[in-house]
Amino acid sequence: MKRVLPVGRHGCVVFITLHRRQVYLPFLLTLAIASVYALSRQYSVPAMLVAQADVLQKRVIAVDPGHGGPDPGARRGGLVEKELVLDIAFRLEKLLKEAGAEPLLTRRTDDELADGHQITTDKGDELSRRAEIANRANAQIFLSVHANAFPEERWFGAQVFYQRGSVEGKRLAEAIQAELVRLLPPNRRRALAGDFRVLREAKMPAVIVEVGFLSNPQEAARLADPGYRQRLAEAIFSGLIRYYRGLPSPPAAS
Ligand SMILES: [Zn+2]
Repeated sequence: MKRVLPVGRHGCVVFITLHRRQVYLPFLLTLAIASVYALSRQYSVPAMLVAQADVLQKRVIAVDPGHGGPDPGARRGGLVEKELVLDIAFRLEKLLKEAGAEPLLTRRTDDELADGHQITTDKGDELSRRAEIANRANAQIFLSVHANAFPEERWFGAQVFYQRGSVEGKRLAEAIQAELVRLLPPNRRRALAGDFRVLREAKMPAVIVEVGFLSNPQEAARLADPGYRQRLAEAIFSGLIRYYRGLPSPPAAS
């Protein structure tokens, strides 16, 4: 993770060596604190976790932005799920690359999967293809990104789902959920089991991250903000670090 430290931006090394050390010790300390602060701001994750992001090196992580093409997913006002999740996936991809991981997006455009398949409304075939892209690449994690919308406005909060019966899927879901709850309050949701074709067919620990509810006006406003989508990507990134480091997470909902 050292190579992504924003130390170079400060450019103070030469300046400091020209002066007596004892005079500039307070300055050096301030600089060190500022650097750690800048680093933690850059990722919105604790410096402790950023320093531990080396666990992601060389990990092939499949990131699956849901929907696309003729299938917009959830939609409210000007917000469209397929566009929001692709944006978050690109942000997560960037963080993963910086950590030395090997992210693999199942789609990079609106209407085409990474295997060249044009997205249609035939969801069964398409969901299998998304899992297959991850399987063929021997990805170690499959992470599908979605957004929710309910008829009622009151529901809010990002939530992670895993395939019922998958021990590692559950652990991964709990780790990501813990970071979403911690970094993006208010959110009291817990990871939840379910039965999902795309998770069933993925051969590695797999989760669906529902980043929030377009049907809740406050959350829709947050999701419309690129800064918030960056923080969502950072929380998922932080969850992956938590998972690989084996840090304890609150248990999933039963
Ligand atoms: Zn969706």
